[in-house]
Amino acid sequence: MAAINTANAGPFTLSPLPYDADALEPTIGAKTVGFHYHKHHQTYVDTLNKLVAGTRYADMKLEQIVRATVDKEDDKEKKIFNNAGQVWNHDFYWNSLSPTPTELSGKLKQAVERDFGGAAKLIEALATAGKEQFGSGWAWLVSKGGKLSVEKTANAMNPMAKGINCLFTVDVWEHAYYLDYQNERPKYLQELLKNLLNWNFAAENFDKEDHAVRAAAE
Ligand code: MN
Repeated sequence: MAAINTANAGPFTLSPLPYDADALEPTIGAKTVGFHYHKHHQTYVDTLNKLVAGTRYADMKLEQIVRATVDKEDDKEKKIFNNAGQVWNHDFYWNSLSPTPTELSGKLKQAVERDFGGAAKLIEALATAGKEQFGSGWAWLVSKGGKLSVEKTANAMNPMAKGINCLFTVDVWEHAYYLDYQNERPKYLQELLKNLLNWNFAAENFDKEDHAVRAAAE
């Protein structure tokens, strides 16, 4: 996944969008993607670079910064966490969406059937998590020791900060849907999950935990 900011330490750059800004239409409009990517996501990158300059975080990779600053009390470290978390979350979100249909198959399909009773039930659980997240935040599909579950987080928080393997996310901050759906967050979730869910990305991430577990056992 070369498009994601995992390999290098700062200064961080805005990861390339994996498709054109209008590729998610009509589910998510080009104007939404343009503002979301070039304004919101870019601002988190720029702010993070300013905040970490000259600190011990300047030489860390993005995921390390998120894990090292989660739950810190210091105001500056809280700001670093919020911006690093949002850079990571947005990199992950863009890759969670696919303009072309993908198929749930193989090992992930088996796990979805075992842990949710099928893709429709998983999608319902994700839509509920996104709808019930009060205020800004994210809905996630995660795996813990190979078992799938759905979580929701507020603001910049993500399960990765606590060492949990993430497979897929939906941004439920208003900036993600307001131009297209206004106040109708449930409709945004329903359309996104029906039309754009990138099962290939979820499957790659599911395999990553598998590899990490195996590597740790060896
Ligand atoms: Mn966002």
